[in-house]
Amino acid sequence: MNIYLLGATGSIGTQTIEVIREFNFNLVAFSCGRNIKLAEEIIEEFSPELVCVKEELDCKELKDKYPNTSFTFGDEGLLEVATLHEEDGVLVNALVGFVGMKPTIEAIKVKKNIALANKETLVVAGDIIMPLAKMNNVSVIPIDSEHSAILQCLNGERVENVEKLVITASGGSFRDLSRDELQDVTVKEALAHPNWSMGARITIDSATMMNKGFEVIEAHQLFGLDFDAIMTILHKESTVHSFVEFIDGSIIAQVGSSDMRIPIYYALAYPDRYEAPYKLNWKELSTLHFKEMDYERYPLLALAYNVGKKKGVLPCVMNAANEAAVELFLREKVTFVEIEEIVIDTVENYKNVYDFTVEDLINIHTSVKTNILNLRG
Ligand code: MG
Repeated sequence: MNIYLLGATGSIGTQTIEVIREFNFNLVAFSCGRNIKLAEEIIEEFSPELVCVKEELDCKELKDKYPNTSFTFGDEGLLEVATLHEEDGVLVNALVGFVGMKPTIEAIKVKKNIALANKETLVVAGDIIMPLAKMNNVSVIPIDSEHSAILQCLNGERVENVEKLVITASGGSFRDLSRDELQDVTVKEALAHPNWSMGARITIDSATMMNKGFEVIEAHQLFGLDFDAIMTILHKESTVHSFVEFIDGSIIAQVGSSDMRIPIYYALAYPDRYEAPYKLNWKELSTLHFKEMDYERYPLLALAYNVGKKKGVLPCVMNAANEAAVELFLREKVTFVEIEEIVIDTVENYKNVYDFTVEDLINIHTSVKTNILNLRG
């Protein structure tokens, strides 16, 4: 299978590389961030046709070193990777943030199937992307443990027979702290997730539950269910990755170890399964806990439900505010609880627009994010 990989040197990207190696897939093209050393290792192992780097400067040096590979750079370069060879293989989009939206759209236009780890794509532009994918006969398969679980639970089922999707949430780094205790938590504490090893941005998003809010919107877009039929539940072990309740009372859950290589591999193998080494130790099933979600404890999750229902450009505004606020928190310019305040204030003060284009979303994203960074940075 031919793989085009965006974000190869990030957390999902490096795990995708492991899966590509494990299953002998063919890496045709990839993009990377500033980790050129790791990019070079990937080039030497897989001899890709095209590589996109962040800076033009790196591009020139690499061209001399690897004459059999073409190089490109920047946001335009991401589109080149996404659209190289029409109707071929799968684009794995492991970019973090809004930057992942445009490459997904362009790849769908050239009829490339999508394995999607970039949840912002569906959060901000799901209303554009899902119809576009349908029109181009392209599949969008989620690389997110919860949505991969739901996809597996729905295999061979009719969506009209679903009563509820139940998305599990570990609770993130501060799940044992009250709201009062959140006041003076540090960046370092926030970055220590109890179950999953992930990138910085998503680890913070897990602690605020913005991530779970994005996942609720993502589930609405992927599976076409109303927000009232999408629940979230606290499950601290991250072993049951989500479950589906049907109208007859049956519940089907997907269970496995907390290893992102499972949803990555499944998105690439779908609808097939291959022999894989990612086994769960059954002992982990002896103590599983579930607890009702506390929406007052996690106001950004409550906000995401509201924003998702309202639709329009508000999901884009919410994401842009969150990107800015998390960046400020990581730079220690704002406190952890101020992330929530910034996102909620920004959404509440924004006049929603219901008729919009992809270009409008790009402009809104840039202006909202820049405003917050200028004001608080
Ligand atoms: Mg997830």
